[in-house]
Parts: sequence; structure tokens; C-alpha cells
Amino acid sequence: MTEKDKQRVLIIEDETNLAGFVELELQHEGYETAVCHDGRTGLEMALEEDWDVILLDLMLPELNGLEVCRRIRPVKDTPIIIMTARDSVMDRVSGLDQGADDYIVKPFAIEELLARLRALFRRIDHEEEQRAQQQPTVNYRDLSIEKANRIVKRGEEVIDLTKREYELLLFLMENVNMVMSRDVLLEKVWGYTSEVETNVVDVYIRYLRNKIDLPNQDSYIQTVRGTGYVMRT
Ligand code: CA
Repeated sequence: MTEKDKQRVLIIEDETNLAGFVELELQHEGYETAVCHDGRTGLEMALEEDWDVILLDLMLPELNGLEVCRRIRPVKDTPIIIMTARDSVMDRVSGLDQGADDYIVKPFAIEELLARLRALFRRIDHEEEQRAQQQPTVNYRDLSIEKANRIVKRGEEVIDLTKREYELLLFLMENVNMVMSRDVLLEKVWGYTSEVETNVVDVYIRYLRNKIDLPNQDSYIQTVRGTGYVMRT
């Protein structure tokens, strides 16, 4: 992990003292953090932004933690660690049933939380490595994506893309000849199901074209009028 891509942790916890303490400790360990104190705001933040992990309390105002977890899951696979004071088997089971990745019982020592986070990230790195090894590169004409290290090239030239541009290009290249509507792209690349202006997609396609296309040549990405976008072979 390089300094510039710090792992981002969203803390959803209504006990402000605990939330503040955890936030300080995580920042001290080099994580980037955000805190919110109710379930509804937490859900919004979880869906709107990309987090590397979400620390989720169960007993929350507005929307309880299990419900937050249940609503995140169909849309995003952000790892979720549930924090709760209630150490009942039922809670643990329902949390994991709703798609949580791990579980920590309050009060906990901060070292235990840090160890859980490290273990979680190790597991994810390992899974990503395995996935990348299974399908190391994706090609389209002279564009290539090395998935293991997220390197995009046109011929031998490396093209620098933001995370979202990368995800968008990868999705189109992994689905060549399939016309993707703006709605589908929003869902697959952004993780939104609704309520977002679909012209966000057009804006990002423009960014992407500016970076990958050569001047005076047809774009790699074709616009299908009234429908969406496609990369055709
Ligand atoms: Ca609480």
C-alpha cells in the first residue's frame, strides 16, 4: 500500500466517544476515516462513496445496523465489520446472514480491532491476487489492462486513469460487443441502483475518451444513440 492510497474506513457508530476514539486510533495507524452517527446517513455514505471497510454498530438511531447491512449488500460488496455490545449468538448469526464479514464485541481493545482489519485486508489482497492470476490481462484492439496491478496500456504506453475511469473501461472491455445502457453502467461501475443522474456516465465516458483515444481517430468506445455505450470488435 502506497502512502497516496490510504485505506478508507467508514465508522457508523452513535456513541460519539467511541466513534471519536476509534477514528483517532485508525488515523494514527494511517487509515483515512469518516464518522457518522445514525444508520440512515451511514447507509447513504456507504452507497455514495467507495470505502475499503465499514465499521458498523448494530444499535443505531434512524435505521439499525442489520438493516443498513442488508441494504448495502445487493449493491456493494464493501467489507463490513459489525461492532456491537450484544454478544448473543443470534446477533452474530443475523449479522453474518446479512452479509457482514466479521464481528467484534464491545468493549474491545483497539489492538483487537486493528488486528481484525489487518486480517481482513490480507484476506482481500489474497483473493484479489488469485482472481488476477486467473485472468491476468484483458485486451481490446491495442488497449490492454493488467488486472493484477491495474495497469492500462495503449500499445506500450501506460495510460493513467482514476479508479472510476479504470472500472468503467474494464467493465466495457470485459463485455465487448455488449451495448451497455447508462443505467447498467451506473449499477455495475458506480454501484448505484437509482436516484442518480445518468449523465454522470456521459461525463466519465468523455473523461475516458480524452485519455485513451488518439486524436483524429474513431473513439474506442462507440455511442449507441438513445441506448448507451459499447466497445465493438
Ligand atoms: Ca449504538
